Amino acid sequence: MREIFVEKFGGASVNSAASIKNVISILQSDKKTRVVVVSAMGKTTNSLEKIIDLWHRLTEFNQEEFDFIKAYHTNIVEELFDNPFELHLALSMLEDIFSQLRQNLLNLNPKDYDFLYDNIVSYGERISTAIISQYMTSLGVNHKLIPAQELIKTDNSYRGAQVDWKKTEQEVKEKLKTLFLETDLVLTQGFLGSTREGYTTTLGREGSDYSAAIFAYCLNATSLTIWKDVDGLMSADPKRMLDAKKLEQVPYREAIELSYYGASVIHPKTIKPLENKAIPLYVKSFVNPDKEGSVINHCQEVQPLVPNYIFKDKQTLLSVSAKDFSFIVEENVANIFSELSYFGVKVNLIQNSALTFSVCFDQNDYVLPRLIEALQQNYNVKYNNDLQLITIRHYDEKAIENLNKKGKILIEQKNRVTLQCLIEELEK
Ligand code: ASP
Ligand code: MG
Repeated sequence: MREIFVEKFGGASVNSAASIKNVISILQSDKKTRVVVVSAMGKTTNSLEKIIDLWHRLTEFNQEEFDFIKAYHTNIVEELFDNPFELHLALSMLEDIFSQLRQNLLNLNPKDYDFLYDNIVSYGERISTAIISQYMTSLGVNHKLIPAQELIKTDNSYRGAQVDWKKTEQEVKEKLKTLFLETDLVLTQGFLGSTREGYTTTLGREGSDYSAAIFAYCLNATSLTIWKDVDGLMSADPKRMLDAKKLEQVPYREAIELSYYGASVIHPKTIKPLENKAIPLYVKSFVNPDKEGSVINHCQEVQPLVPNYIFKDKQTLLSVSAKDFSFIVEENVANIFSELSYFGVKVNLIQNSALTFSVCFDQNDYVLPRLIEALQQNYNVKYNNDLQLITIRHYDEKAIENLNKKGKILIEQKNRVTLQCLIEELEK
């Protein structure tokens, strides 16, 4: 059996003609059998969300945003293709996809938001892979493009579809085996799947990493590489901490912990399928492809073992107490949690005392007033906005000292490995 490598290129790695050329040169730098998983170009997914939103709310076609995305891709195509005939082909292909997008949208029920969303948002990935495939053809790069909808089979929970592993494994193995008879480069989309009936689904925002892990799992791949605009997994966001260090080696369970606490480098669902089959995950820089990145595998300990910072801005702290000064007991907590769950609030931190139960979550100006109104029927409710939640894995004395300089600490929680602090008046 030949070795298969899965490689994922995210939106930032294909956001211009130059970036796309860089991707091709990475792929040509060595000879391997590959599944290449690609996201939508640049910020296309966000733009498509605007189109979907306007159709959903007002049944209006967002011509401006449509023109914007179309011009963005047209520019890329014009820069990529030198040969006038090939350029003509690529432009007319774009023309076709965009008119299909428009026509599809106009035919979709604006009220059925989740279904509408998946159908339309998928064009980001469809367009990016169509352009890249055509460009590869023009360069004579032997490859096959296959729609991810034919491979990843899901249920019909649109916008966060659950993978049907059995069907998916069957499709991936069967279809790719055939394709690999003809080529050693299979190109497909991240983020997308389809229901049993063939309707397009998505795996949740930033879900392309997860797609890549699904392919790696189903193919028993030798490794998965995720190409990023940073050198690897870092001990903190380098934009916030100039002395952030690259993590050379990270155990799977540590990577899961980091993403649980909000480290946004890899999609949280990515690790499990890889861990289950002991497939190493490399995180590498597409800017410096020769540099060694980070590897996530079955190693014992993260290396180097330095404090890891995860920052979450725009946090709300909501404190709930009984109206009659009575204790907050299990029954109240159950009741408060059922409201939180009803409003889809994901809790980042909890603190309780005899009289008050406090929870911290991502600020959401739509949900907050509604949640407060519901809770106020039984409780007194207070809240604070614009807080910052800092999580430090493997904290040390110096890390704690630094925290004190950041602002007023409202909540601090510690266990052996993790320190979490909710802070007000952050220094910018
Ligand atoms: N294009 C999708 C998104 O931006 C999926 C991905 O990039 O992972 O959410
Ligand atoms: Mg993206």
